[in-house]
This record gives sequence, C-alpha cells and structure tokens, in this order.
Amino acid sequence: RLTPILASLPQRPRQEALKTPLALRKITFVETYQPFSAKQVEDQADRCLSCSDRSVCEWTCPLHNNIPKLLELAKQGRINEAVELSHKTSSLPEVCGRVCPQDRLCEGSCTLKDKYGAVTIGNVERYITDTALANGWKPNLQHVKATGKRVAVIGAGPAGLGCADILSRNGIKAVVFDRHPEIGGMLTFGIPAFKLDKQVLINRHQLFADMGIEFRLETEVGRDISLQQLLDEFDAVFVGTGTYQSMQAGLEHEDAPGVYEALPFLIANTKHEMGLPALVDEPYINLAGKRVMVLGGGDTAMDCLRTSLRQRAAVVTCAYRRDEANMPGSKKEVKNAREEGAEFLFNVQPQFIQLDAQGYFAGIGLIRTELGEPDSSGRRRPQVVAGSEFVLEADALIIAFGFSAHSMPWLEAAKVKCNRWGLIEAPRNSRFPCQTSHPQIFAGGDIVRGADLVVTAMSDGRKAALGIIASLGLELQSAPPIQ
Ligand code: FAD
Ligand code: SF4
Repeated sequence: RLTPILASLPQRPRQEALKTPLALRKITFVETYQPFSAKQVEDQADRCLSCSDRSVCEWTCPLHNNIPKLLELAKQGRINEAVELSHKTSSLPEVCGRVCPQDRLCEGSCTLKDKYGAVTIGNVERYITDTALANGWKPNLQHVKATGKRVAVIGAGPAGLGCADILSRNGIKAVVFDRHPEIGGMLTFGIPAFKLDKQVLINRHQLFADMGIEFRLETEVGRDISLQQLLDEFDAVFVGTGTYQSMQAGLEHEDAPGVYEALPFLIANTKHEMGLPALVDEPYINLAGKRVMVLGGGDTAMDCLRTSLRQRAAVVTCAYRRDEANMPGSKKEVKNAREEGAEFLFNVQPQFIQLDAQGYFAGIGLIRTELGEPDSSGRRRPQVVAGSEFVLEADALIIAFGFSAHSMPWLEAAKVKCNRWGLIEAPRNSRFPCQTSHPQIFAGGDIVRGADLVVTAMSDGRKAALGIIASLGLELQSAPPIQ
C-alpha cells in the first residue's frame, strides 16, 4: 500500500483549508477557514501512510485519537462510523479540528511533514463531525444504565464538558454549573468567532442536553451556590474553572483609562457579537478609529489584534520582546494577523505608560532588546539595549501577557490543596485520576495545568470522569478511552 502512495505524493501536496476572502474576513467575525469539501477530504486522507498500528500522530494527539482509522473512514465516506470512532476519544472533535495547534501536535509528528507536508488532520476531523451533525447524527445512549449517582461539574469549559460527557455515557447524572449565560468557557467567550463560530457550541449545548446533561448557567459557585451545598447534594464534584487572572506588565498607570486587559476585552466583544448584555465590570470596548497597541506575542495577543482590526481600529500594532522566530503563538495566527493588516514591532520591551493631561493613555515607552542566552523554556532571553528608549503614541493599549489562577476563596475553605501558583493539585496518574486532596473533589484543565489548550483541558476532564467512576466503585459501561 505504501509504494503507490509514496510515488504519488510529489503530485499530491498537503492542502490547507481555503480562507474566507480577506476583504470579508477583515470586517466580520466569520470563521477564517472554510470547511473541507468531500473531495478535499478524500484527497488529503488518501495521503496518509497508516504508518503502523500505533501511529506517532495518534500518540502526539493528547486525546490519542485513532487518526489513521478516522482518515480511512472519512476517505471512504463512512461518516457515521467515523463520528462514532471520533467520540470514543473526544468530546468535542469539531472544536479541536478548528482550534488545536495541529502544527505542534498531531500534524507536527506526521511522517510526511518534512518531505511532502503533513496530512491535513484537523480539517478532516472537523469535516467528520460537522457532516454527521448536519445529517442529524446524535450520540446514542440507549444502552446506558442509570447508576443513580450524581456529580456536580463546576465550569462548562472543555474540561467540564469532557468530564460531563464521560459521566453521562456511564449512567451518572452530570449537573454543570457555569457563571456565563452559555456553555463553552473560553471556547465561547475567549476564543473569537473568527477562529470558532459560536453556533458550534450552541449546537453542542443541545446535543449534551439531549444526552441528559443538565446545565445551570448564570450560576456562580461561591456566590449563587456554595461548594458545601454541592458536596452535600452530589456524590462528587469536578472543578474545571479555568484561569482568569490576567498577568500584568508591572508598569505604573496600568489602570488608566485606555489600558485594557486582553480577556475582558475579548469576552465583552464576543458577548456584543452574540447580542448578550455586557457586565458592569466588563463593558464592551469599541476601538473603531483608534491607534491600538497590543503587548504580547502569544495566541491571545493575535486574537486581540485581529479583534481590534474587525472593530475598524485605525492602526493595530503588536509589540513583542523577542524576535518573530521566538514568538510563542501559532505561526498560522501571526500570518493571519499580518494579512489582515496588523503591524509588528519585534525586540521591544515596555518601559512606561504615557498619559495625556486628562490622565488618559496616550502612548507607550519602549526599549529595544537583543536576544541573549536561552532561558529555562529554551527560548533566548531578551536583554535591553541601553539608550534605545522611544515612545510610540497610541489611543489604546491591550495587555495580553497570559493568565494565572484566580482567587477562589470557596475552594480554600474546603482545604483543597493548591501549589504556589494557586493551581489545584490533582495528579492524573493516581489511583483515582485527577482527585484532589479532598476525596470528593476532582479537578482538571487550566486550573490544574495553568493556561494551556482546549484539547488538554478536555483530556483532563475525561480522565477525571474515569477517576470519579472508579472512586464511586462503579464499572465502566463501555471500554475506557485510551488516555
Ligand atoms: P475554561 O475554558 O476557562 O472554562 C472554565 C469555565 O468555568 C468558564 O466557563 C467559567 O465561566 C467557569 N467558572 C469559573 N469559575 C466559576 C465559578 N465559581 N462558578 C461557575 N462557573 C465558573 N486553546 C487552544 O487549544 N486553541 C486556541 O486557539 C486557543 N485560543 C485561545 C484564545 C484565547 C483568547 C484564550 C484566552 C485562550 C485560548 N486557548 C486556546 C486556551 C483554551 O481556551 C483554554 O486552555 C481552555 O479553554 C481551558 O479549558 P478549561 O475548561 O480548563 O477552562
Ligand atoms: Fe490533532 Fe487536536 Fe484532533 Fe488530536 S484533537 S487529532 S491534536 S486536531
């Protein structure tokens, strides 16, 4: 089988999904990448060599999706079988197909990558579930026997949803609490619609509800309901509350009008686009006509640049302290931001915030950097170049330096052990995976790992469900997913 595929590869290059035309993309929040056609799926899936029974892409996918088999089924048009297989290892395959950094995960390890270009895995994964759902496919839980057990899930992000999915497939009633008015966590409110259309999560909401998962939205644990109430009422509790403390630049005047944190800016913009009301402490910020500076070089910074552009900002500039090669974000997103009109200023570090006479943000003082020795992450450390300071005038500043654990006093009251960064300790490789120091409480996703990825959060949630099932002394009702 390998020889004809290998011989044909020079004539059959890797194909990316088509992008929405730039003129439309720049001014709307429509998804950047178009879905694959059946023909593209067939062509691309047919490039897979099915290297071995346990292909390396399968192991670099944090969910261990059976990628060669999925590609084979998709190629043959056996979509119902493909979607069933996909859901054995994933709770939101159509989401991962859209937002996973595939170049670092599954596609990054594809045997064909260096010589011929990796097989396009993410787009095929997206196609399988999108097509199945459009054809009316739903998970069939008729064979599942109710156990009478009930679990409270705090947080409807990918960790909480992954946990609730596995629980319901094993006859456990999952009740999911979230402070937001829609499920998805960062999938709905953090990641902008040009990367992930909001209808995708609205469809999933219906599907999960049909599976028997109950959602109690606009309900904040610690404010509207106490953790103790949940511990009294439920057999176990899963905490998947994410990380929401924005990292600061450490500059004077960071609280001046015109200086914004990335996440509230993105959340309020998404709510605005979805027609949902803004919160008093999280108002909609309109940057139309403004000169916008974004500090940071990760995916959140790219999302802020691209959101500002869609709001019709006059000039949008990203300032990053290393060079382009050392940016932590996905190369694809940097390319998209640049195509849409973002400007980049590399090797600069913020020094001070300049205010106007009324105390409004008016510009940012920057100093040039050069790269020194590698730090603990392996990336070269920026060092400032003395005497190279300059000021860049602007009307708005967005700080996108990432997130850390936010304070949850209700969790501290239950004596759940956290590490020195405020992240919950919940080891995956213990007798009951993802169990915290409180035997009834399990945790996963960003609040355990620190800000990471959708796919790893979901993997934690699914793993925690296995821990909960085992701790309740229940048998699995289907073969355990590979974890
Ligand atoms: P979250 O998704 O944060 O969900 C936590 C949920 O808990 C939220 O809905 C929150 O409202 C709820 N909650 C918190 N406290 C309470 C409480 N007390 N009571 C009730 N509910 C509560 N990852 C990717 O893989 N690809 C990307 O392209 C990508 N882009 C990103 C872009 C941005 C702007 C951001 C911020 C993140 C991005 N990420 C991306 C990271 C990814 O979104 C997160 O790693 C992932 O969503 C974490 O999942 P989680 O379930 O742990 O937490
Ligand atoms: Fe690749 Fe992510 Fe899908 Fe895994 S879940 S196969 S890493 S796109």
